[in-house]
Amino acid sequence: MYTETKNPEVLQQEIEKLKRRVAELEQNEQKHIEATETLKKSKNSLENIFWEARSGIGILQNRVFVEVNPIVSEITGYSRNELVGKNSRFLYPNDELYNFVGKEKYAQVKKYGTGTVNAVWRRKDGSLVDIRLTSTPIDSMDHTKGVIFTALDISNLKIWKNELQNSVERLKIIFENAPDAIYLNDFKGNFIDGNVAAENLTGYKRQELIGKNFLKLNLLPPKHLLKAAKLLAKNVMGLKTGPDKLELQTKNGEYKWIEVSTYPVTIENQKMILGIARDLTKRLEDEKFKRESQQRMAFHVNQTPLAVIEWDLNYKVRQWNQAAENIFGYSEEEAIGKHASFIIPKVELKNIGTFLHNLIRSKKGSKSVNKNVCKNGDIVLCEWHNTPLVDEKGEVIAIASLAHDITKRVHAQEIQRVAYNISNAANTSVSLNKLIKHIQKELSTIIDTTNFFIALYNKESDSFSLPFFIDEKDKFSSFPTGKTLTRYVIKNPKSLLATKPVIDKMEEKGLIESVGSDSEIWLGVPLQIEKEVIGALVLQSYSDPNAYNEEDLKMLEFVSNQISLTIHRKNTEEQMKKALQRATEADRLKSAFLANMSHEIRTPMNGILGFTNLLKNNALNTYDKEKYLSIIEKSGKRMLGLINDLIDISKIESGMSEVVTRDFSLNEMILDIHSFFKPEAEAKNLKLSCTTGLPNDSDIIKTDHEKIYAILINLVKNAIKYTNSGSISFGYELNNHSIHFTVKDTGIGIPKEKLNSIFNRFVQANSSLSRNFEGVGLGLAITKAYVELLKGKIWVDSTFAKGSVFTIEIPYVKGKFMNNTEEIEKTATEDKIKTKLKIILAEDDAINRKLFSYILKEISDDLLMATNGAEAVETFKNHKDVDLILMDLKMPQMDGYEATQIIRENDKDITIFALSAFALETEKERAAKNGFNAYITKPIGKAELLQKIGEHFKI
Ligand code: ADP
Repeated sequence: MYTETKNPEVLQQEIEKLKRRVAELEQNEQKHIEATETLKKSKNSLENIFWEARSGIGILQNRVFVEVNPIVSEITGYSRNELVGKNSRFLYPNDELYNFVGKEKYAQVKKYGTGTVNAVWRRKDGSLVDIRLTSTPIDSMDHTKGVIFTALDISNLKIWKNELQNSVERLKIIFENAPDAIYLNDFKGNFIDGNVAAENLTGYKRQELIGKNFLKLNLLPPKHLLKAAKLLAKNVMGLKTGPDKLELQTKNGEYKWIEVSTYPVTIENQKMILGIARDLTKRLEDEKFKRESQQRMAFHVNQTPLAVIEWDLNYKVRQWNQAAENIFGYSEEEAIGKHASFIIPKVELKNIGTFLHNLIRSKKGSKSVNKNVCKNGDIVLCEWHNTPLVDEKGEVIAIASLAHDITKRVHAQEIQRVAYNISNAANTSVSLNKLIKHIQKELSTIIDTTNFFIALYNKESDSFSLPFFIDEKDKFSSFPTGKTLTRYVIKNPKSLLATKPVIDKMEEKGLIESVGSDSEIWLGVPLQIEKEVIGALVLQSYSDPNAYNEEDLKMLEFVSNQISLTIHRKNTEEQMKKALQRATEADRLKSAFLANMSHEIRTPMNGILGFTNLLKNNALNTYDKEKYLSIIEKSGKRMLGLINDLIDISKIESGMSEVVTRDFSLNEMILDIHSFFKPEAEAKNLKLSCTTGLPNDSDIIKTDHEKIYAILINLVKNAIKYTNSGSISFGYELNNHSIHFTVKDTGIGIPKEKLNSIFNRFVQANSSLSRNFEGVGLGLAITKAYVELLKGKIWVDSTFAKGSVFTIEIPYVKGKFMNNTEEIEKTATEDKIKTKLKIILAEDDAINRKLFSYILKEISDDLLMATNGAEAVETFKNHKDVDLILMDLKMPQMDGYEATQIIRENDKDITIFALSAFALETEKERAAKNGFNAYITKPIGKAELLQKIGEHFKI
């Protein structure tokens, strides 16, 4: 082909050229590859944007979709396939909008290179969607190449816009209606804006504020200006301030306290200050009011007598006022934080849990009365009002308690109750003893009455009786006279509270002498009615020196008057009851006595009168006469016995029966009585025996001879009277320092129920039975009275239908053995031996004179009669040789005493016997003192008179 030979240099150049071209080509190829790569990458990133963008993006050519990304499908609801290749017309709800969008965009693109228009598309589901379409031509030179569009769903934007609008409105409303003043000002202090509250606070209208400086408006008084400037400076530095208190001067010159907070803010690129000011006037007033209320409350809490205590839910003290300290003794400092147990008695602690639980659960207040313990150990009685305190949710957060110390009130009520019960007890108690027992029981509810007694004082005898006495240690039934504490209280008369040392001191001073066991504390209160002391009430403790205090003493003094009145009332009542009983009994006895007496008098009188009448019959033989006379004598004796008994009992009753002691032989008396009753016993076929307890040479005793004689006579007489068969024995024996007489029979006995009453006057064991026996029921009454006069005792053991034993015990007083005087007397009597006596009989009663002349016939053949004292004196003057004068004591003109006195002035030795119907011991003594040698009681028995005369004259 190439035949032509070419120059090698040219060839070389050609080759070199080719090589460069190849190299260039290779270089270009590399560049192309790189460029393609770069293109590919950028295409990829554009594609990525296209596919990944969150806005709808697509390409339109002649308003026909060429490509769309998935967001367009999301907005329209149509898939890519349904859109690509289709004219966009179907998306518009009408032609107008379609055309408008086309035109508007075209116009804008033409003008600005890009066009944006808001439109509405109809989605596949038929709903409309607001969109913003922006289109840019692919080739600005050639619009036919199509446009790239973005579609933005602005439905939400619209909503947001609305919302923005709404929130601006809301903010405006809030701004205008805010209760606090809200304002804006610049950094110089010029107001930019302000709300209604700001107008109200300052008194300036908004127009007046805006553009004005607060300095110019004089809104702050000078003293606050510096502070305001500092706040402003802080704002300028971008710091917020407040809340700060400032004083504000309003338009009308009024001052108001406000609280201001400021914030530096930027609004529409302008830096300014937002201020919020709050009117403090009301708050300060409220606070002042609250503070004052709290102060008032605190004042009340501390002034009230009620303990005000607040507890937490663990029952620990949170609040404790002065009254709580006064009541319980703990100071606020000591009490706060303490558990309630510190004022609750141990025994009641266990109830606290339930109590709290109930209080919290029910959320209702409760009232209770509890015992509490004080710091010093005292127990007080408190009335508690507990209220649970609840928070706003209704939860119990604490317990508020009010406690009232009612110890004194309750104590006073108790005392009133005790006093009332005591005064009532007088009506219900049957006896004084029971009443005092009741008083002790009542008192025991308020005071320790373990050792308690009441001593009643007898002014006349200056002695005490103890109707009630209980004591752990001592047992007194009667009270020792002497300087006892009780006597001290009664004599003073003043209450006494004495501890052992005080008692010891009183003893040292000789004010008292202690009796009985020593007590640690002794409390005695006199019982008085008006000024008269009737006794004392005494309490004592052997173990506790603090058992009683002054309070107790006052309390006892308070009730002592009631006790005195009650005891006095009961005593009087009892005495009246006894008097009534006695009166009723006396009335009953009077009737019985009268019936019996009538029987006792009529029977012997009938005997006397009846047989005297019979005696008038001259034709009577001696035997009958003797018999009748004996009946008359027996009846007379029976009547005499009755009269003697009546006189004895009336002497006893009138207190005229006195004890006259003398020495005499007891054995002689026993034998005397034995021989006296022997015939009577034998007449009834009864064996009568006697025993003596002392040998004959030492049987002299000193006591009242007459009374012992009368006692024994009575008992032996009864024994014979009430025994139909068997035996009677009597006698005596010495027992320690007393003599025991016994009179024993095998008689009818005494029914048990009558044993106690037979010693009463006019009482017979069985009236129907007794009617078989003579007597009026006086014998044993006289006997008992005599025994008691002799300081002795009498009692009876008896078995009905088997027999009785009467025993008497009297003190033994050894007497002196018979001395010479008796001998002298005997010889003196012997000197007067005479066969017949010359006697003056001074007696005013004619019958008695007759009786005497008959009796004295045997021993006197010279009997001179005088009918009164004067006659007796006269007769004696004429017959100085008389041996004996029998002088009646009671005579008209001149009585026996006077006559004897006159006679004695003349003749000291003449023997004068007193004759008297008074069987009184005192009368006897008086006669002896007035110069009578003997005393003879009328009616006069022959034997007795002759025996008495025989003692003076040996006839
Ligand atoms: P009187 O004998 O006059 O009735 P008293 O006072 O002596 O009165 O006695 C009172 C009563 O005691 C008597 O009525 C009698 O019933 C009873 N009595 C006294 N002594 C005895 C006795 N030895 N045996 C049985 N009864 C007696």
